Amino acid sequence: MTANLAAILYLIAGVCFIMALRGLSSPGTARRGNLFGVIGMVVAVGTTLAQPGVDDYLWILIGLGVGGIIGTVIALKIPMTAMPQLMAGFHSLVGLAAVLVAGAALLSPEVFHIGAVGDIRFISRIEMSIGVIIGALTFTGSLVAFAKLQELVSGAPLVFPGQHLFNLLVAVAIVALAVIFCVDQSPTVFWIMTALALAFGVLMIVPIGGADMPVVISMLNSYSGWAAAGIGFTLENTVLIIVGALVGSSGAILSYIMCKAMNRSFVSVILGGFGGGGEMAELTGDKTVRPGSADDAAFIMKNASSVIIVPGYGLAVAQAQHAVREMADMLKAEGVEVRYAVHPVAGRMPGHMNVLLAEANVPYEDVFELDDINSDLPNTDVAFVVGANDVTNPLAKTDPQSPIAGMPILDVERAKTVLFVKRSLSPGYAGIDNPVFYNQNTMMLFGDAKKMAEEIVKAI
Ligand code: NDP
Repeated sequence: MTANLAAILYLIAGVCFIMALRGLSSPGTARRGNLFGVIGMVVAVGTTLAQPGVDDYLWILIGLGVGGIIGTVIALKIPMTAMPQLMAGFHSLVGLAAVLVAGAALLSPEVFHIGAVGDIRFISRIEMSIGVIIGALTFTGSLVAFAKLQELVSGAPLVFPGQHLFNLLVAVAIVALAVIFCVDQSPTVFWIMTALALAFGVLMIVPIGGADMPVVISMLNSYSGWAAAGIGFTLENTVLIIVGALVGSSGAILSYIMCKAMNRSFVSVILGGFGGGGEMAELTGDKTVRPGSADDAAFIMKNASSVIIVPGYGLAVAQAQHAVREMADMLKAEGVEVRYAVHPVAGRMPGHMNVLLAEANVPYEDVFELDDINSDLPNTDVAFVVGANDVTNPLAKTDPQSPIAGMPILDVERAKTVLFVKRSLSPGYAGIDNPVFYNQNTMMLFGDAKKMAEEIVKAI
């Protein structure tokens, strides 16, 4: 294949990836977006394999086979609720790949056409340093995020005195070593820099508290993109640079959106330990709950004129989206206005609730973002909170020590009646009690979200 043809095909692949991102930005076009992504990837991989430098396909085919089988098994087996940790796991692999490519380039620069041992091109040294640093911290940072999300380790922030200063010193040392490596090409300096970057990934993620994990996930997503772009420069592969930059910048935009949703400054989340330092106020006052049944809930909602459904992580766990939609359809048939309020960090990954509601064919025009619906809650008869918890917790507004302090929440307690579906009084991801459980206008519907919705459907 000529270099010109390859460049054109890479360009086509790049355009496909842009179309993929465009499609994935809305549930209605997501499938088409995914298809563009697949086409782009086939074109990119096919073009790369047809390059004149590739003259032995055996190992490539073995890699494709093994990777393809592992990927297929994971895709078929993974439950929707384990998606966030899967993403973290995959990001770690991109980071590891960047470290391995940079390491290989250091050991055999002639294979990469970037010079010879001890005489690597200056610009390549810069690319390798950036690639290995971002790759190493993405690798270990993603592993820590994986362990937290999989609950292999506690999700609580791990903080120690002088942490910010320590992290800053490590970061400065890494940059200094990168400069030294670019000047003298010392392999020892390269590997110390890599080791420090690996440690920095851990240091960066351990202090981040549970409720701030959405930002971490999107941030690591962004880093994995920049790591891929770094590999692209070392391999002089245009499409990898394009894809890496697309993932890196879209991940950065997503991080910004998540920070806005959590009302956090990006820097404060990265510096870590947000909300983890202080003593949380214990809930005081009357802690009586008012439990109810599916019949009670059906009666209240049938006689309401407006209902806002607030889905959360428990909806995903119970796979209750279809039953909830059926309930909503029946209420609509009774003349009740039914809408869905989606909090940006509801669930365990960005867009989690939108994906589930789209899967259950909930009409897009019934689904509202927090900012667009929050002011309607005081005029609403029933807030039906199903498997959500933190995203409705008013302590975010009243307790500055709370891990969710400052996070905008759905003001469900301002609806005339709150129906709260969950299995117990256990806290949500942030690990804090929710005063809404004990309000006079709250009825707790204890049970699995899917079962409860099905029983309400029967009762209606
Ligand atoms: P929460 O984690 O606050 O609460 C979910 C609730 O669902 C739990 O209290 C649990 O209570 C209940 N639940 C679990 N299983 C079931 C079931 N089968 N049936 C009924 N209820 C069930 O969820 P939210 O969506 O309100 O908030 C998301 C939280 O996750 C936020 O703190 C956010 O920061 C964090 N997060 C979000 C990410 C994202 O990208 N969106 C990523 C990582 C973290 P019980 O056990 O009593 O049933």
